[in-house]
Amino acid sequence: MSMWQIVGQDRVVSLFQRSLEGESLAHAYLFIGPSHVGKMTLALNLAQALNCEAEERPCGECLSCQKIASASHADVQVIGLVPGENSAEDKVRTEISIDQIRQMQHSASLPPFEGKYKVFIIDGAEFLSIEAANCLLKTLEEPIGKVVFILLTVADSLLPATVVSRCQRLELVPLAANEMEAALNSRWGVELPKAKLLARLSHGCLGWALAAVFDDNLLLQRAEKLDRLLEIIKADYEERFVYANQLAVQFAQNRGMVKEVLDLWLDWWRDLLLLKIGGNDIITNVDRMDVLVEVAKDYSLAQIRDFINSIQAAGEQLRQNANPRLVLEVLMLDMPGKEGRSQDNLAARLSVKNGG
Ligand SMILES: [Zn+2]
Repeated sequence: MSMWQIVGQDRVVSLFQRSLEGESLAHAYLFIGPSHVGKMTLALNLAQALNCEAEERPCGECLSCQKIASASHADVQVIGLVPGENSAEDKVRTEISIDQIRQMQHSASLPPFEGKYKVFIIDGAEFLSIEAANCLLKTLEEPIGKVVFILLTVADSLLPATVVSRCQRLELVPLAANEMEAALNSRWGVELPKAKLLARLSHGCLGWALAAVFDDNLLLQRAEKLDRLLEIIKADYEERFVYANQLAVQFAQNRGMVKEVLDLWLDWWRDLLLLKIGGNDIITNVDRMDVLVEVAKDYSLAQIRDFINSIQAAGEQLRQNANPRLVLEVLMLDMPGKEGRSQDNLAARLSVKNGG
């Protein structure tokens, strides 16, 4: 029996099985889906299937499959942002550079070293610089035998249309909550209450849920961030601005961390919205139900809706490289205090506008 490790992407897996049997693989794939949905797992599985020595591919057990699983196969390479690595100008790297693509092209021009196929996985293809994307395009336009490129991205709209059109697009969908609960429970032995919480918190992205199964810190960190959020809601503008500034500093070092905080807030305020409109059964933060019910009393539906829009706008502006400190300060101003504080809110807005 072949060992596709990806859970819940049956449509995509059966497509690959047919392509492998018919030797009708594309030379470039684009996997689209939210973070932790399983794009990398699927890409590595496909690399295994292409190089597997067994009859039923991927077997997960042959030397080739094992080497790919442990990132030590000479013909399977992952290209992406290198966390913590700085560019020549001593800025944190925020792009996949043309140099990385040129190195990949050189490697692709050589025959497989130990396997049957060379596989290049470009993780976070939305981070390709314009030059890198153009350089890659040339390769995608002229397929090389026994070479497969797999681009991973959260949204194909973030990539040049020319690159997208050269790849076979495959969308990975998050798992339904009950499907994930069952998988966590039966495959990884997670107890049901925890499986239920993780299914909600991960929004169907198994990678995150599994990370939280193996590392308790993830849930602890979430709890800390949520506690901090609740403090900030009650805090005055001075404290909120100090916090905005801390986040802006973090953003310069680690964009992903700030995105996580904003996502956490979005979940929290969406939960408040759901409580107001009677959608209790699809709430994310199921372990904080008591607090949510209490906090929801402090806001009107309109306040909650407005602030959800503000969080989404802030996320979009940060993606478009707006000044993080300004974006986050505006978000702090937009965050509603308890009802009856709208006057303070107005006064603070005016004083900021006047530079006070
Ligand atoms: Zn194998």
